[in-house]
Amino acid sequence: MGSIEDNLRRVEERIASAAGRAGIDPRDITLVAVTKTVPANTIREALSAGVREIGENRVREAWDKYRDIGRPPGVRWHMVGHLQRNKVKRALEIFDLIHSVDSLTLAQEIDSRAGRMGRAVDALIQVNISGEESKFGVPPSKVAHLIESIAKLEWIKVKGLMTIAPYVDDPEKARPVFRDLRRLRDSIAELSYPGVEMRYLSMGMSNDFEVAIEEGANMVRIGTAIFGERGR
Ligand SMILES: *Cc1c(COP(=O)(O)O)cnc(C)c1O
Repeated sequence: MGSIEDNLRRVEERIASAAGRAGIDPRDITLVAVTKTVPANTIREALSAGVREIGENRVREAWDKYRDIGRPPGVRWHMVGHLQRNKVKRALEIFDLIHSVDSLTLAQEIDSRAGRMGRAVDALIQVNISGEESKFGVPPSKVAHLIESIAKLEWIKVKGLMTIAPYVDDPEKARPVFRDLRRLRDSIAELSYPGVEMRYLSMGMSNDFEVAIEEGANMVRIGTAIFGERGR
């Protein structure tokens, strides 16, 4: 692995090429740098190199780093991991976008906490496209109904969909998963639920982000390709 900055430039180039193949402007793709297990000092290095979106998957770990780094101008924090209801209050102090809403009870908890803070909270619905039992996420057949219910809540705002593809050696094998999520996004967009935007399609990680972009991702979550292999 090169320096964080070199790795980041390389990832940006690969995003730009994939965007070119998909016929979209690379500036319309949001790169979330996933910093789980990465210490605050390294995150600062990534921020100096141009990272603006920080993704974490555990509230406690994120809180420690958030207290250290804070929210420099233009920087946004993303919760990409499973969110437990008892962590919602703390999560809302840190995160700008929650990628992992997968039940009405979680959405209601976010809504009520957000209401008490008097601020609207943006969220994505995590979809379990592949049906893997180990994965969190809503089955595709239940997504529209869940969004219809969440649309009636006042403070949580649905901004799109997220999925985690099963890990495969050949990223081509993940392509159908990404394609299915995009189709689901399009079909939900047509339903035009009030206050719901199907703006973000959060899919693609270090191993498969180019294929995800070719299939319509406009938010990719990348850790290893920027920071190297995790110790965990
Ligand atoms: C860790 C993680 C990523 C980044 O994975 P890499 O393979 O390191 O790029 C993306 N999304 C989620 C939900 C993660 O937990």
